[in-house]
This record gives sequence, C-alpha cells and structure tokens, in this order.
Amino acid sequence: MTRQRILSIAAVLVLAAAPLAALTVNTPKGPAEVFARGDLVDLVELLRLTGADVQFAPAAGSYTALLDPHEAQFTPGGNLAVIDGKLVSLPGPVRTLEGHVVGSLATAGALLAPLGWSLRGTAAALELVASGGDRLEVARVVSPTGTLAVIRGTAQRPRLGSAPGIVTLTFAGPVTMGAPVPVEAELLGGDLREGTLTLRLAPGIEVASTYPLDNPPRFVLKLEASGAGAVSAPATSETRTGPLVVLDPGHGGEDQGAKGPAGELEKDITLALARLVAGRLQAAGVTARLTRDGDESVPLADRTALANRLRADAFVSIHANASPARGAKGAETYFMNVDASDPQAAQSAARENASAPADTVQLILWDLAHVANITASSRLARGLQERLDALQGIRDRGVKQAPFVVLTGATAPAALVEVGFLSNPDEAGRLTGRGSQDELAAALSEAIVGFLRTAAAATEPSPTP
Ligand SMILES: [Zn+2]
Repeated sequence: MTRQRILSIAAVLVLAAAPLAALTVNTPKGPAEVFARGDLVDLVELLRLTGADVQFAPAAGSYTALLDPHEAQFTPGGNLAVIDGKLVSLPGPVRTLEGHVVGSLATAGALLAPLGWSLRGTAAALELVASGGDRLEVARVVSPTGTLAVIRGTAQRPRLGSAPGIVTLTFAGPVTMGAPVPVEAELLGGDLREGTLTLRLAPGIEVASTYPLDNPPRFVLKLEASGAGAVSAPATSETRTGPLVVLDPGHGGEDQGAKGPAGELEKDITLALARLVAGRLQAAGVTARLTRDGDESVPLADRTALANRLRADAFVSIHANASPARGAKGAETYFMNVDASDPQAAQSAARENASAPADTVQLILWDLAHVANITASSRLARGLQERLDALQGIRDRGVKQAPFVVLTGATAPAALVEVGFLSNPDEAGRLTGRGSQDELAAALSEAIVGFLRTAAAATEPSPTP
C-alpha cells in the first residue's frame, strides 16, 4: 500500500467521523471552500461560484441569484423557489444556519440547474460544472396563425436582440447547434457564436412575438411581414419607458374554453378582445404584450411567467363565462385567493383550471408570499368590474376571489375577467360582434389605464400630470 493511498483512506475516515465544516468544490476557476454542516451546504456561496449575482432583499426576506437571463429566487424557511418567474418546489427546505443560507446538495442542484450549472461527484469530491449544453435545432413551422421559427432542444429563455434583417438569441447556459439553421422562405440561415444564435430573416420579415413552450421544451419566434399589425414586440429585456401590461387571452389551441350556442369559441373571443385591448393600450402609451398571439396552446404557468420576466405592472387574463343556467349574464372579475368567495366562484375557477389542476400546497404558499399584492389586485379587479358594469348596464355580479391557477405565482397585480356568459345566446352574440367587442375592449383598457394611473400616484410622492 502506498503512502499516498494510506493518507487518502485516512482522509475519508475523518470525513465520515466528523460533521463537515467545509466542502471543497472544484470549479472551472479552481477549487473553492464552501461552508457546510452535515449534509447541508451554503447555497449562496455555491451559486456565486457560477458567476451569478446573488442579492438579498430584506423586505421580502428572499435571495435572488441572477445569471442573465436566468433568475432563481428563494427564501429561507421554505422549500419553494421562483425560477425564471415560475413557482417550483425544491427537493428540500432552505434554512438559515450559523448565519449561512443552507440546503441539501439536491436543493443546491435544483437551484443551479436553471442557471446552466450542475454539481457532480460526492460530498467528498464535489465538482461544479457547466451543464452539457443544449443542442439547438431551428425549424420553420407553418401554423394556422402564421409562420413560426421554433428553436428546439432547449428550455432556456434566450435574451433577444434585433437589427435590420437579423434577430439574435443569447443563451446564458451552454448551447451547441444540433443541425444547421434552415434556409427556407422567411429564414435565410444563421449561425451560433459564443452562445448567441443569429437568425437571418428575409427582407420585410420581423419577429412579431416570442414565447416558450414546454413538453418538449422549445422557444418560438412568430414571424410576420413588417407592419403587419403586430401588437407584441419581441420579449427582450431592453430598458423600458412607461408601464407594461401583459394581457392573457384565455385558452388556445386544443383547449377551446367555453362554447356558445352557435359554436362560438371562448379561445377566439379572448384573443380578439386581447388584441383590441392591446391596440388601445398602445395608443394610450402603455406597452402591451400578449401571452399568445395566435391559436396556440400556452401552459398556464408560462402565462404569468411572461409577466414576471417582463416585470409587468399588471396581468389581466381574459375569459368568457359559461353556466348551466342559460339566463346567467354579466361580467365577473376575479383576483387570486386560496379560498373562493362563494361556491359559484369556486366552480368558475375549477372550470378555468381544468387544463392544470391546482397544487394546493403551492397555492397556500403563494398566498403567504403575495399577500401584499392582494390589495392592488383587488383594486385592479374592482376597476375592471366597474367599467364592465357601466357598459353592460346590469347588476354587479361583483368582484370575487378564487384560486385560479393562471393567476398563481404572478408577482404583479393580477386579475381574471370573465367578460360575459357565452352560454347565454344574447351575450354570445354580443361577445362575438365586432362593434360590441370594441366596446368591451374600450372598457377594459380604460380600467387598466385608470389602475396604472392610481398605482403611479400611490408610489410617486409628487405625481406629474
Ligand atoms: Zn376561460
């Protein structure tokens, strides 16, 4: 037995006998010491080793690790994290220990993965490595709503940039090309250099909107001829001037939502309304983005995630109601709460949640984390309901509270509006008529602008006119 081997066995015995005081982690920049106790490691120190900027927000008591464009938020005392705007469960709790924020290696791994890093090896020989790299494949897809460039093979949300004739997608985590970028119609090829994928676009073509999709993960660019009336510009992280609102046309794709007596579909009505509202908001100087700009299926969690990533000032999900009572009429507006305000509100939530069953634990934790938002959300909901009541000249069905999954995890004031009952033949006609849709859109956009104005007045000591 060599002397070296005897020494390494001795080291293992020491590790096994005494609780760990520190871990040595091998990183691409060399070995680093990280605080550890038993099987718990310092999460903040580990995240910083990736180059992430980790900040503590005293008001929320939470930590945010930013490795552009990815972001992981976590709070000691819980086992939830907000990853790129989405609420996720961690394998174990985050705790404070001797002034350090610690968690298990599995919890550390869950926070590192979305930033493009992973831990390998055992506690005795731990290595921090950049994840293998996503193999990107670009495909041109013609959908019923237009032409899409679909980036397959990645769950990353790239940062977008554009210049005449090109669009760039910068990935924070490692990426490689799985196949050359096709040269086909709107797409004139492209290449990947140092984490930035450049796509060349045919003359007169621009990116109208972007959105991520899950199962399998991919990132979609909607291509359109310039000036084709696109209401949503690319979701870039450019600096903003003025307020930004995310409008969510309910349902889409295979999820049709409610159906009217003449076959009217909720998913079509919500999209038409959202586009009209977006147009009116833009005209009023408010940037409006849509969670979908076509007949596409977008997971509920991705809808608020878009609002969170864009740091939206408000999130409004637009729906049309249905009831077994054919005479049921009028608008209803909801804001998120764990407990439904009445059985009918619970029923509406159950119907709208059908495509994603509520995770009760997440809802309860959401409630604890976002109590501060309830006041603003209820004010947004009240404003929407008042405008719709005035327009429709009918009794107030009232602002209600219910656990709508699409509002879960929204960090902005959020409301869900059921603009009317599609199950009522009179209302179905009104919801599909172009003129009455325009009136509804005017009411919704006026309510949103009113909400933003009072929100601005509340945060600025001396508001300018
Ligand atoms: Zn709906």
